[in-house]
Amino acid sequence: MKSLDELLAEKSLAPELWNDWRWQLKNSVSSAKEFLSLFGVADDIARYYKKVIKQYPIRITPYYLSLISLGDPEQNPVLGQCLPDIQEIKHSTGCIKEDPFGEVQHMPVPGIIHRYKDRLVLLVTDHCAMNCRHCTRKNILGGNVALHSDEQLQKAFEYIQAAEDVREVLISGGDPLMLEAAQLDYILNNVSSIDHVEVMRIGTRIPVVMPMRIDDELCKVLTRYRPLWINTQFNHPVELTAAAIAACDRLIRLGLPVSNQAVLLKGVNDDVAVMRELCVKLQRNMIRPYYVFQCDPVVGTEHFRTDLSVGIEMEEELRRTIGGLALPRFVADLPDTEGKVPLSQVE
Ligand code: SF4
Repeated sequence: MKSLDELLAEKSLAPELWNDWRWQLKNSVSSAKEFLSLFGVADDIARYYKKVIKQYPIRITPYYLSLISLGDPEQNPVLGQCLPDIQEIKHSTGCIKEDPFGEVQHMPVPGIIHRYKDRLVLLVTDHCAMNCRHCTRKNILGGNVALHSDEQLQKAFEYIQAAEDVREVLISGGDPLMLEAAQLDYILNNVSSIDHVEVMRIGTRIPVVMPMRIDDELCKVLTRYRPLWINTQFNHPVELTAAAIAACDRLIRLGLPVSNQAVLLKGVNDDVAVMRELCVKLQRNMIRPYYVFQCDPVVGTEHFRTDLSVGIEMEEELRRTIGGLALPRFVADLPDTEGKVPLSQVE
């Protein structure tokens, strides 16, 4: 594989471009051809990778690619999360489903998932800066689930307005911070103007995969709204680079609490020492280690799933060795339950 330096030289990169998120997007690896040539995949297996990428498209920012040289090459936490794997198209077994929580089923209007009485999810885009291979929504994004038109957006606002028990709106996708700042402002403004909406949350992996997106223009918008909570997803300490920490710090200095919702992933962070390092590094940087999720039973992600006992034992071990503020709750999202369930209570 080419080194990052070679890659950047090839693209004649001017230093300021690296910090331009639009440049990052434009230069992302986003086709099978780019992936095969960048990683020197042998011809005899290339067709399998092409099949995977056809079903689950690839998208990796140059920034995230630059993390590849960090960490243990034997168990590279970055590769697993961003590179296609032939196991993604293996036949699934047992309880594994395309949409295990019936999110599509719980859509009263396009763009809204309403599973719980007091809160709902607004899917404002189906684009992400990186297509995470373990994504829970990998089988439904790209269909007609996220908002695609002004008309759909208006209908979504009307739905929230009429749902008087809803006090919390999670703005999700895809990644909401992929929207233009003005578009995000419009959405936040409309949602926050609904009387019974008390709290907004944004779910985003932007600080992890393209931290330069947290720029002045975006910060100017985000700072207008209160209470607005940011949930992100660092899965490995290697992802907490100086740039990622600086992006989170900008958000925190705007008064926006940043919490981390990691996913327990086989071959990425299913190791207590790795998870401890992640948690203490998050805490040190004022990012709350909030949840560690059991990887959901989603088609195409089965190879990431650990036994329940891995998370349960990890949580017990961490409880013995780190303080409460650094200790996340290990939980699973289960269909037909009101909220997350502690791993130790999953049957
Ligand atoms: S950023 Fe979030 S929604 Fe997008 S692919 Fe990654 S996990 Fe899925």
